[in-house]
Amino acid sequence: MIKSTIRKNTWRAIYRLLDRVSPVPFDCGTVCGAACCMAEGDVGIYLLPGEDKIHDKKAGWLEWSVQSTEEYDFPLSWQGKVYFVRCKTPPRCPRQLRPIQCRTFPLMPVFGEDGELKLVYDNTKLPYSCPLIESQAQLSESFVKATATVWRHLVRDPLIHDLVKMNSIGS
Ligand code: SF4
Ligand code: SF4
Repeated sequence: MIKSTIRKNTWRAIYRLLDRVSPVPFDCGTVCGAACCMAEGDVGIYLLPGEDKIHDKKAGWLEWSVQSTEEYDFPLSWQGKVYFVRCKTPPRCPRQLRPIQCRTFPLMPVFGEDGELKLVYDNTKLPYSCPLIESQAQLSESFVKATATVWRHLVRDPLIHDLVKMNSIGS
């Protein structure tokens, strides 16, 4: 597995911080039928390096697989294997165990031209439409703040830094 500099306890603290916030003050899944959870096809979630440390791979709600970074679009520094997970019963899941990708969507972190980390609406090609992105909805201040705090911490890890850098191109 590719290496992570982030400790298990830090992952726990990051999850706890994001447990307290939501993008909007209502369940946005009721608007779109939880489109981001229910997307069909070969859709799943890549865990960030080390994120698996706080997951029980035997827990039944996720299907785990291991993928080689060479076969997919990862930064050059990502040499090795990564975990890819699929939810078995979407949109139901243990909320306190949702991966980072679910917790910080619909925002994504990018580096601006000045090198500062900033959050933008996810502009990657998605197999569904997110009403929050489509309408450029005003997101909860607490969500934006907690998400920025978390990403500022995560990009201290060299591999995560490189991932955000790669995603910043053209953003
Ligand atoms: S984040 Fe977007 S796609 Fe996901 S449930 Fe909310 S509105 Fe729907
Ligand atoms: S972990 Fe939960 S929030 Fe994330 S895609 Fe699966 S069902 Fe949706």
